[in-house]
Amino acid sequence: MAVENPRDAMCQAIQVTPGKAHSARLGLEPTLAPKRGELGLKVLLCGICGTDAEIERGLYGEAPPGEDHLVPGHESLCEVEAVGEAVTGFRPGDLVVPIVRRPCPEGCEPCKRGRWDMCLTGHYAERGIARLHGMLREHLTDDAEHCVHLPPELRQVGVLVEPLSIVEKAIEETMVVQSRIGIPPRRALVTGAGPIGILAAMVLRSRGLAVDVLDQRPVDSPKAEIVRASGSRYIDDRTQPLEESAKDVLYDLVLEASGYAPLVFRALRRLGRNGAMVLTGVTAGHHTIELDVDALNQEMVLENQVLLGSVNAARQHYEAAVRDLAAWQLSLPGLAERLITSRHPLAQFEAALTKDPDGIKSVVEVAAS
Ligand SMILES: [Zn+2]
Ligand SMILES: [Zn+2]
Repeated sequence: MAVENPRDAMCQAIQVTPGKAHSARLGLEPTLAPKRGELGLKVLLCGICGTDAEIERGLYGEAPPGEDHLVPGHESLCEVEAVGEAVTGFRPGDLVVPIVRRPCPEGCEPCKRGRWDMCLTGHYAERGIARLHGMLREHLTDDAEHCVHLPPELRQVGVLVEPLSIVEKAIEETMVVQSRIGIPPRRALVTGAGPIGILAAMVLRSRGLAVDVLDQRPVDSPKAEIVRASGSRYIDDRTQPLEESAKDVLYDLVLEASGYAPLVFRALRRLGRNGAMVLTGVTAGHHTIELDVDALNQEMVLENQVLLGSVNAARQHYEAAVRDLAAWQLSLPGLAERLITSRHPLAQFEAALTKDPDGIKSVVEVAAS
């Protein structure tokens, strides 16, 4: 049954001109009634990450076809306000997270199978990033089939579903690789204690692994405290370099989340026999390092090692994120919420981009929940 759309004709939104640095402004976007198969959504929270910072600096992002601007924001938590015709399973008041990436128009084989995260053409659209407006706006409509349902108890932490979906995919891929051995990995290293790194440590701990997390903040920093609260060991690479702190330790699994490419090769040397390392950080620099590639090649061959990259996520990874966040509400109460270290109103979106070395996740409070 269609529900009357209660919203105004326009809503406030952040708009940027792709390719132009520091063009972010507060503007107005239409709020449409949901069409058949759509949900009318109120955006509660929108998390900010490095991709948003790149879009704001004009380095990344693409406007929807025929438009001159893009509404950024891809890590959201929304509430259903109105339900379009022929939509089942959603009611006003439900919490949802819209999936970021949408299948390519060509309908390549992975996209057809719901694995748009593995799209072959690269012509997919991504909400708030490429060719599709994002969620830094008060209201939007979206296809119900691209929304993930959240239980009401995730209201405080549901904004972490999208970044956690990235982690769930990376770990799932690595576990698929490691299933070749028949023995589950026991010891993991996570490089980088940002939101991806800490969420990865939480997932790996939940799967029973012993986890070390490496970053460059002091051992009494908030990041280090959260890492320890997750049951992992924290290593400050500046005072205890990886080569010393983990001298006698080789890891079965390494997850790279620092986005600092030279660290990739240092961490790769700590990978043990039959180990797998997964890269999740997109690096923008042009670092060069001197590397004994023969030694690396030999080690990887003789030790059956695997190095893989992982980006984006499919619906199954969003659903895994919802399950893990719900489980942590019981097993690690309050911990996921501590990842949200700063909150900003929509009009001060730029403040959410300011880098605080002790901050973990900044969110924009689009609507008061
Ligand atoms: Zn992001
Ligand atoms: Zn595709």
